[in-house]
Amino acid sequence: MIYHSTRNSALSVSSAEAIAQGISADGGLFVPAFIPELTAADFESLKGLSYAERAARLLQLYLTDFTPEELRECTEAAYASGSFETPDVQEISVLADGSMLLELWHGPTCAFKDMALQILPHFLTRAIRKTGTDKEVVILTATSGDTGKAALAGFRDVPGTKIMVFYPEDGVSSMQKRQMQTQEGANVRVCAVKGNFDDCQNGVKAIFTDPEMQKALAENGMQFSSANSINWGRLVPQIVYYVSAYVTMLEKDILKPGDRFALTVPTGNFGNILAAWYAKQMGVPIHRLVCASNINKVLTDFIGTGVYDRRREFHATVSPSMDILISSNLERLLYHMTGGSDTQIKAWFGALKTEGRYEIPLELCHRIQAEFSGSFWDDAATKAMIGKVFAENGYLSDTHTAVGICAARDYNAHAAEQLPMLIASTANPYKFGAAVLEAIGGDTDADEYEVLARLEAKSGMAVPKALAELKTKTVRFTDSVAQDEMPAYVREKLGVK
Ligand SMILES: *Cc1c(COP(=O)(O)O)cnc(C)c1O
Repeated sequence: MIYHSTRNSALSVSSAEAIAQGISADGGLFVPAFIPELTAADFESLKGLSYAERAARLLQLYLTDFTPEELRECTEAAYASGSFETPDVQEISVLADGSMLLELWHGPTCAFKDMALQILPHFLTRAIRKTGTDKEVVILTATSGDTGKAALAGFRDVPGTKIMVFYPEDGVSSMQKRQMQTQEGANVRVCAVKGNFDDCQNGVKAIFTDPEMQKALAENGMQFSSANSINWGRLVPQIVYYVSAYVTMLEKDILKPGDRFALTVPTGNFGNILAAWYAKQMGVPIHRLVCASNINKVLTDFIGTGVYDRRREFHATVSPSMDILISSNLERLLYHMTGGSDTQIKAWFGALKTEGRYEIPLELCHRIQAEFSGSFWDDAATKAMIGKVFAENGYLSDTHTAVGICAARDYNAHAAEQLPMLIASTANPYKFGAAVLEAIGGDTDADEYEVLARLEAKSGMAVPKALAELKTKTVRFTDSVAQDEMPAYVREKLGVK
């Protein structure tokens, strides 16, 4: 499989190069030259296999320059070494109304990001070796909360790597902040940015694409890579879990071969839902993709009108990992849906950068609407849904997942055809404990650990060990910088002039 840049179709790299580089030097994202298709027999052959075995087979379709043995090593290390608290890695919970929650948060940091970030370091260290460099990899990551911790946990003490994480100072939950500030490991560093997630992401992108910075790193035997979902190595393990979820639904007789279903994904950077779109192109019978947003509803507007306009007020919500106005992975979808028009992509994403806006032709917008629906939900609706789902099912959902449940129920209420509904559940509810406790009628006037205890008493669901033990961990990182200070900070901490 060859990969092109969304901003230069003539550029061709191997999967190892795409993963090692993270983002193309022209600012584009790496995309596969074609999307492999799976037959009914292929799905059948994945039945009965462990998650790690399914993953190794599916990854082989995209990461063709990795050997089957290498991919098995990667998937075993990520998914079969006990870091996920359920042997199946992901779980499907069925609610009273028949909708299904695909729980992707049983990994070490309690959010779906672990599904990709437990395996990315294994890809990356092998990819670097394959591309023939012996440089140290510096992972630079902007996070709205969950990616940062998951990346830190994945890369901690991985030989040949260093990781630096930037998060918005007031844009993450107190639990997320604790998780990052207490991160252990000799190769990790965490820093707050005075700004929102987009400021962090723009700061990181600017550092990545600065030729002077790249030169300085090269002179010191280092090279940057990315753990954000702009890296293909992040996205491809996410395709795996949608295919695997479909196979599990077949195994459990929830679906018969050929049955279609609808899928709702709570969305920020458009990574998780794009992975679902790839799974659909591969043959998973997803009839419709429902893109669920909080009141930072730039994607709802885009799907509805074809106009992407980031010039709007940014809102901090109870679903902070979706507080995003620049959804980077949309670039990949538009590249595929324009048949690989790098000139159009360059024009649109250039305009997004300079004018804060771009507009796609109506014809393309209609094709997007044929596959995607979008809706957005405010904090009040989100909390009300957490309360309702808990009252009806005794099931606790986190704030992001609740945005998804709102969108899924609204979609079903208006859909011409009632299909089975799968909803991506993206975080353990304890990760956003205060909002969840409030939503089920608890008293939140307490510190974050007391909040966990109260939530446990009220719900009967156990506090995840990884969060409970934070209380006794030392805070290691309290640095904070402005966006324009990020390059100097990176140079200083890496010791490059
Ligand atoms: C990252 C995240 C999202 C958004 O995922 P994208 O891939 O950015 O769309 C949703 N929910 C949670 C809990 C997250 O951590």
